[in-house]
Amino acid sequence: MIDYSNVHSVALLGWNMTSTPMNVLNDDSIPAFEAALQRAYSDPTVKGIVITSAKNEFIAGADLKMILRNNDKNPAEMLKVSAELNRIFRGIETCGKPVVAAINGTALGGGYEACLGCHHRIALDSPKAVIGLPEVTLGLLPGGGGTQRLPRLLGLETALPLLLEGRRVSPKEALALGMIDELVTSREELLEKALAWIEANPSPLQPWDERDPKTGQIVGKENVRPPGGAVQSPTGARVFGAGTAMVMEKTRGNYPAPIAILSCVYEGLQVNIDRGLVIEGRYFVQVATSKAAKGLIQTMFLGLNEANKGVSRPKHIPPTDVKKLGILGAGMMGAGIAYVAAGAGIPVVLKDVSVEAAGKGKDYARAVLEKAIERGKGTPEKAEATVRLITPSAELADLQDCDLIIEAVFENRALKAQVTREAEPKLAENGIFASNTSTLPISGLAMASARPDHFIGLHFFSPVDKMQLVEVIRGRQTSDYALAVALDFVKKIRKTPIVVNDSRGFFTSRVFTTYTAEGMELLTEGVNPVLIENAGKNAGMPVGPLAVSDEVSLELIYKIADQSLQDGALTEGDTAYQVAKKLVERGRLGKKAKAGFYDYPANESKYLWPGLHDLFPPTDRQPSLEELKNRLLYRQVMETVRCFEEGVIRSQLDADLGSILAWGFPTYTGGALSFVDYVGITNFVREADRLADAYGERFRPTQRLRAMAERGENHFKHSLHS
Ligand code: NAD
Repeated sequence: MIDYSNVHSVALLGWNMTSTPMNVLNDDSIPAFEAALQRAYSDPTVKGIVITSAKNEFIAGADLKMILRNNDKNPAEMLKVSAELNRIFRGIETCGKPVVAAINGTALGGGYEACLGCHHRIALDSPKAVIGLPEVTLGLLPGGGGTQRLPRLLGLETALPLLLEGRRVSPKEALALGMIDELVTSREELLEKALAWIEANPSPLQPWDERDPKTGQIVGKENVRPPGGAVQSPTGARVFGAGTAMVMEKTRGNYPAPIAILSCVYEGLQVNIDRGLVIEGRYFVQVATSKAAKGLIQTMFLGLNEANKGVSRPKHIPPTDVKKLGILGAGMMGAGIAYVAAGAGIPVVLKDVSVEAAGKGKDYARAVLEKAIERGKGTPEKAEATVRLITPSAELADLQDCDLIIEAVFENRALKAQVTREAEPKLAENGIFASNTSTLPISGLAMASARPDHFIGLHFFSPVDKMQLVEVIRGRQTSDYALAVALDFVKKIRKTPIVVNDSRGFFTSRVFTTYTAEGMELLTEGVNPVLIENAGKNAGMPVGPLAVSDEVSLELIYKIADQSLQDGALTEGDTAYQVAKKLVERGRLGKKAKAGFYDYPANESKYLWPGLHDLFPPTDRQPSLEELKNRLLYRQVMETVRCFEEGVIRSQLDADLGSILAWGFPTYTGGALSFVDYVGITNFVREADRLADAYGERFRPTQRLRAMAERGENHFKHSLHS
C-alpha cells in the first residue's frame, strides 16, 4: 500500500493503494502510512523522507464513505480520525528529519494536508492535477490541520478564501499562491529536487515552530504571526468581518461548515499549533456529524459519481457510440447542444431552415469558445478544431447516417411531428431520434415516429454549456437500447443524466413549477413580495420564486398554463395561471421584456415592480419567514414524493440530483427526496399535515408516506422501493 525504498539514505514513501482506484486516507491506509513513517524516523541511516505516490494522482483526500458511515451515529469515531491525522502530520514536522512532499498529481483535502505537514512541497506541473482543500464544498472542514497550517503559511487574506470556497487550483496557481514551493516538469526532476532539498536542509523547522532552547525539542510558537498580520490586527479584524458577512449572505445559516472554518482560524491563530489543532478537531466533529455534510456527501459526491458512471444504464445492452450527431434547430438550445457535442469530439450536422440560420448556431459555439480563451481556458487551435466539427446545413441529405438526431425546433407539436417524419429516414440503421422538448409528453411526440421504440426525450437545460444535467425521458415505447444510446451519449459529452418516465412536465419542470406557483399563491394571499423573495433565498434556493418566474418568462408560464387548460390538466381558477395572466395582460412578460414581477433598469439591477402592491395588496399581518420557507420547500417535496410514487421518477438519487442540478433545490438537504430524511419523516408528515390544514391539500402527505412515518421508518429510499 505504501512502497518503501531507500535512495541515497533517503526514505522514499510511495503511496500505491490497490483496494481503491485513487490513493485515499482510510482505515487501511492511515495506519500503513504511519507505520512507514515510523520506520523512516527510527532508522538512523535515513537522513530525510520523501512522500510521493506511484499512481498518477498523489492523494485524493479522505475516504468519504468512512465519514458518511460515522456521520449520524459516531462523533467519537470522527474525533478519532481527525486526532489520528493530526498526530501523524504533526509527527512529520517534528520528527527532526527533513520531509519533502513530492506531489506528482492531484492532492486534495487530507492529501494536501499531509503536504502541509511536510517541510517542503514540490509539485509536478501536470495539466490534470489540482491542489486544494475542497472540504467546504462537501459540508466539511479540513480536519487534518488545514485550517491551522494554511493561514500560518499564506496569511489570512490568501488562506481564508481558499478555505471558504474550497477552490482547487492548478500546480502553477498553487505556486503563485505559495501553497507549494517549487514546480517541476518531470517525475525525475521531482525526485532530484526533493533529494537536493533534503541535502541542503538537514534540520528544517516549520514557520510556526521553534526549538525549545532547553530540551532541543520542536514545539509550536506561542506568539503566532502569520504573514500579513495577526488575527487581532486591523487587517485581521477587516478580513474576519468581511469573511463573516460574505458567509452569512451566501449560506443564510443553512451550512455550518463555513462559519466553523472561520471560528477554527480565528480561535486557532491565537494559540500555538498544538492547541490550534485541538480546536480544529472539535469543530471538525461538529460539521462532520451535521445533516448538511450528510446530504452533500451522499448526493453531491457519492451520488453524482454513481450517476456519471451510468447506474441507470440497462446493463444488457453492449456499449454504443454516437459518431455522427444531427441537430434540428440552431436556436438557443440547438446551438448549445452542438457546442457541447463538438467539444467532446463528435461531428455535428446543425440543421435549420436556412444555412444562415444554422450558421448562427455555429457562430454561437465559436463565441463561447473565444470567451473561454479570454478566461485562460483552451487554445485558439483547439477552439478552431472544435468549431470545425460543426457543419451548418439546410439540407436533410446532410443528416445521412447520423447515430442520433436531436430535434430542438420551436415548441410546437405539429412542427415537431413534421421534422421527425422528415429526418428520421436519414438515421443510421440503428440510430435513435430524440426530442429536446421541455413540456410535450414524449409518448405523444413519438406517434410521429416510424420507430417509437427508437424515440426518446433528451431534455437539456439552458445555458447548455453551463448546465450539467440532462433529463432523459423514456416514452411508453422507448426501448432499453434507445435508453442505452442516450445515456452513452450523455456520458460522452460529460453531462450528468437522470432517467425519468414520461409525464406532463416530466420531473424537473413539474416540480420546479410548484416553487414558482407557491410564490404566486403567497402573493395573492397578500404576503409582501419582498418577504416572499427573502423566504425563497433563506430556504437555500438560488433565487426567489418571483425573480425566477421572470427569468423563465411570465409569458411562457402563461402559455404553458393556457395549453394545460385546453388539455384539461388545469382549471380556470388555478392561481399561477391567474397571476401570470394578470401580469401578461399588463405587458409584464418577464425579464427579457425588462418588465415582470421586477423592473429591470438598464444597469443590470432589478427592483420589485411597485405596481404589485396595487394588484396584490399586502395584508396587515404578515406570516413568519419560517412559515414561508416551509411552504416553499414542502410544496416542492410533496410534488417530488408524488412523482416518485407515480413512477415518474425511478430512484431517490435521480430525484435528489435532478432537483439540485436542474433548479437549485438546496444542497444542504441532500435533495428534494432526501429532504424528508433531513427533517425526519415523522416531523415531515406532521408539518405537511399542518400546512395542508392551513393552506390546502397540495401539502397533504400521501398514504404511503404516512404509513412509513407510523411504522417509524426514516429511510425513505428503502421503504418506497420495497
Ligand atoms: P429557439 O426559438 O431559440 O430556436 C428554435 C430554432 O428552430 C430556430 O432557429 C428555428 O429557425 C428553428 N426551426 C424552426 N423550424 C425548423 C425546421 N423545420 N427545421 C429546422 N429548424 C427549424 O428555441 P429554443 O429555445 O432553442 O428551444 C428549442 C426547443 O428546446 C423547444 O422545444 C424548447 O421547448 C426546448 N427547450 C428550451 C429551453 C430553453 O430554456 N429555451 C430549455 C429546454 C428545452
